[in-house]
Parts: sequence; C-alpha cells; structure tokens
Amino acid sequence: MLLEVRDLHVEFHTRDGVAKAVNGVSYGVDAGETLAVLGESGSGKSVTAQTVMGILDMPPGRITAGEVLFEGRDLLKLKEEERRKVRGAEMAMIFQDALSSLNPVLTVGDQLGEMFTVHRGMSRKDARAKAVELMDRVRIPAARERVKQYPHQFSGGMRQRIMIAMAMALEPKLIIADEPTTALDVTVQAQVMDLLAELQRELHMGLILITHDLGVVADVADKIAVMYAGRIVETAPVHDIYKAPAHPYTRGLLESIPRLDQKGQELYAIKGLPPNLTRIPPGCAFHPRCPMAQDVCRTDVPPLYEVTESDAERGSACHFWRECLHG
Ligand code: SF4
Repeated sequence: MLLEVRDLHVEFHTRDGVAKAVNGVSYGVDAGETLAVLGESGSGKSVTAQTVMGILDMPPGRITAGEVLFEGRDLLKLKEEERRKVRGAEMAMIFQDALSSLNPVLTVGDQLGEMFTVHRGMSRKDARAKAVELMDRVRIPAARERVKQYPHQFSGGMRQRIMIAMAMALEPKLIIADEPTTALDVTVQAQVMDLLAELQRELHMGLILITHDLGVVADVADKIAVMYAGRIVETAPVHDIYKAPAHPYTRGLLESIPRLDQKGQELYAIKGLPPNLTRIPPGCAFHPRCPMAQDVCRTDVPPLYEVTESDAERGSACHFWRECLHG
C-alpha cells in the first residue's frame, strides 16, 4: 500500500471545548488508485488530509493517536525537515482556491519554474522550459506566451490547471486534491476532473480526492470512503456504493444529487445539520438526522461492520446496514 492511515485521532482545542475532528480514521490508497473521501464540511475529511500532508496547524490541532504510513514509513514520526522533503517531491496537494494558493506577484512561469530550481537545482532557463512543458501537458493553450502572465490573467479553470501542473511538477507518488473543482462551473469542473484522472493514470500516482459532492466522483474514483463526524461510516468500491448504499447517510448524499430525469422536482436534502464536534451525539453520531434510527442507535456506537453480502471489501458503520442495503 502506498499510503495507509491507521486509526487517526485529531482534536482541536477551542473556546467551546475540545472539538473531536477525526475519531479513528483508517484508509489506504495504492499507486495508480483513486480514493474519494466524501462528506459534508466538518466531517473531518480535510483535517485528515492536512495531517497526511503535514500541514495541520498545531496548535490548535493535536494528533492524539494513529499512524500515517507512506511506503511503510510513519510520517508522524519524521522531523519537520524530513517531512518537508516528502512534501512536494513525493506527495503534493491541490486546493480548492487556486487564486489564493498562487502568488499574485509572480508569473506562473516563475512559480512553476521554482519547483525545478529549488527541488532539482535546475538553471532558470531550463526551469522555464520545464514550466512551458508542464503548461502544455495540462493543456493551457499558447503556453510559451502565457508562461509570462500572472495568475489573475487566467480564468478559474485555467488557474486550476496551473495548480495541477504545480502539484505534478516533481511527479509525486501521491496527490491529494481537496475540493479541486468546487469553485468552477459544471462544464469546466468535468474538464478539470478528466484531466486530473488522465494524468493520474499516466503517472500511475495514488490520488485522494476530497469532495462533498458524490456527483463528481463516479467516473474517476475506484473506491469511496464516506465520513461523518470524524469517522468513516461507509467504505466500498465506487460502483457498489452507487448501486446500493449500505449506510443511510450515504443514501441521503446520493439522493441529494440533482438528476436530469427529475427536473422540476424538489431536491432531497438530508434533514438537520452535521453535529457540533465539541458535542458529538452519543451512540451513532448520525442518529438525530437518520430516518432509520432505532433505540440502540442512541446508545451504541456502531463499529465499521463488514458488509458480508458483497464480493468486494465493503464496510458500514450502521447497526442496520442490511436493511439499508436492501431498502
Ligand atoms: Fe441510522 Fe442507526 Fe444506522 Fe446510525 S446506526 S445510521 S442512526 S440506522
């Protein structure tokens, strides 16, 4: 396994008390594989990713338990200098907001080139040639001319392509993309997602795709981990989840995807709000919002049950996963 997160726990000390953001998350991704991590904001998906990348703000964040194994090495045990070497060269991250991630006063050529001058010791001229090559690769038209432009001179979609180019500049083994297309309109979203998937296949990288939108991952992900209140509540190969979810929360997310054949009908929304992480409900954290909740759900935390009625590896943290699967 390229990356394996094991039983990770992260909390934040806030004025309101201790917010338990990540509560025993385990997941893994292999080279050439795409894992989509799905959940509403506050589910812990981004905090887990920041911990993997080593960019979690500590304090207020605190890793209280767990391991992040990258090619078998626990990154949580590395010194900051070693960690920095892994970041950028071996794993890279793409954020939602390219405009605030790029430096507004440097040309994109300088920013892309810097990856090669700093990490590979290349001359400025060679680094500039590499920047043009990368811009071509992410299909930015007229790369030779546009390499001299500043981030604000590009459209949102083109800026996101530049972010992808920066992330893959050093051909990392793992890319984490945190809501990479959320700020874009639907058509551009699909193009950027296709590009990311294509490059991932070509370079045989592991890709962790973090999103709140089940609609964008169907064609690109191999497997999905659904998160709620800092825990993984369902994990399965992508097509199995779309065919029959084994957790009521996943079912709610699926039913909230707009569908062309239901045009004009009111869109389903999961009732209520995600919990305050300083006061996670007892038992199953989803019980106040769950249409299938029973008494046991209010007292007993469901473990990640193995979904035995599947040929693939599947898990559901629901006491009633069978009923959900067949419901
Ligand atoms: Fe709903 Fe109970 Fe399953 Fe939680 S354990 S998802 S409350 S049915």
